Amino acid sequence: MLDKSCHIITFGCQMNVRDSQWLGRVLYARGFRQTPLEEAQVVVVNTCSVREKPELKVMSTLGRIRQATGGNPRVLVCVTGCVAQQLGKALFEREHQVRLVAGSDGIAAAPQAIERLLEEPDLRIDLLDFTNHYVERESAPAPDGKGEPSAYVNIMQGCDNFCSYCIVPFTRGRQKSRGSNAILEECRHAIAEGAREITLLGQNVNAFGRDKNGDGTSFAELLHHVANLPGLERLRYVTPHPRDMGPDDIAAFKELPQLCPRLHLPMQSGSDAILTSMRRRYNSKDFLNLVEKLRKARPDLALSTDLIVGFPGETEQDFQATLRMVRECGFMSSFSFCYSDRPGARAVLFPHKVSAEVAQDRLLRLQELQDDLGRAWLEKRTGSTTTLLIEGRSPRDWQGEEPAWQGRDPYGIPVHVELPAGRDHTGQMVPVSITQAKKHSLMGRRLVQTFS
Ligand code: SF4
Repeated sequence: MLDKSCHIITFGCQMNVRDSQWLGRVLYARGFRQTPLEEAQVVVVNTCSVREKPELKVMSTLGRIRQATGGNPRVLVCVTGCVAQQLGKALFEREHQVRLVAGSDGIAAAPQAIERLLEEPDLRIDLLDFTNHYVERESAPAPDGKGEPSAYVNIMQGCDNFCSYCIVPFTRGRQKSRGSNAILEECRHAIAEGAREITLLGQNVNAFGRDKNGDGTSFAELLHHVANLPGLERLRYVTPHPRDMGPDDIAAFKELPQLCPRLHLPMQSGSDAILTSMRRRYNSKDFLNLVEKLRKARPDLALSTDLIVGFPGETEQDFQATLRMVRECGFMSSFSFCYSDRPGARAVLFPHKVSAEVAQDRLLRLQELQDDLGRAWLEKRTGSTTTLLIEGRSPRDWQGEEPAWQGRDPYGIPVHVELPAGRDHTGQMVPVSITQAKKHSLMGRRLVQTFS
């Protein structure tokens, strides 16, 4: 009998987390079971190219797997995702345990490929072709019929924007919107399994439906359809593109109470010269106008962002413009990075690279500012009331009278709260008052005895 033990390692963004969750579900439905790395017959490394040194990370992970499994050639190692798409069949040569390489579209066929590879130990399979349409994936139920309270649903694949620092259009392919009926069906299914919050995922969600795969449904219309599904309490999405956010997308924040008052809106830089060089196709004035319109539509909207410092040609003046914009927009949090070359991206060829020391110094100054803004934003929440969607037991260990649980408020902030012992509160909506701000989270006190 085949050994169907498996272990999945995931790098990167929410789309990758979602891909790994999906793959896990399908494998478990096919009789696989999750085990620690050392005991696994099948190891999947789901890779990401967005963060720094992706190739190095993947190769060191493959080395770690070789060590943990004693280099056993019968252990099947599968590399999926963006780095698999980039390195392709070269991975077979670089690590003998790798027998499946599946890119962003190819991952849909990975479960069948894994089963075949287990039966044919001398075989290697690559799934690297891009499709010209969104590939619907095999569906599988949650392992015990109970899904997560917060579900992720893909609405598209790829991107057409070709920002000069990014290789997503090369690793995930050109934009392919998913059919709105399939999206709604998956959302209904997630709600039936217990989800009360759904996050719609895509590289550039506002451009949903604008490619040749679109079925006539715009992103704003999709938001309305999903928000009105019975049983759904909260709706979120990532990632929007400032240039593609239209009036209807903005109005949705006013019209849909289910749409959470939190938006992760990547700005990348506050300098117009750098934004042009990045090919972002908006300038600082456009961005500020958008922020103003969004805040008018939803006065309590909290914004977070992505920022790159040390982009080729960035001067201290450009960097100061970024600091000014961060202050002006009042971001509650940000992901910030030093620029680094991504092989294949246009910016690799740009002159005037910023030295690592200068970029690092700018990053520290930016993060100091962001820490101050984030702390002030969290502290302002003290004394307010809100509702948590409980995700599970709190990882914080404190000796309260009752067990500690963790939930998220509508802004997506983790809040720790004591709840009565003797029952599982996962998936409940719990009203709380915020009692204290921590560095990245909040403490809350339950307001009422009854639960929804
Ligand atoms: S919008 Fe730009 S940064 Fe985002 S995925 Fe597309 S090309 Fe990359």
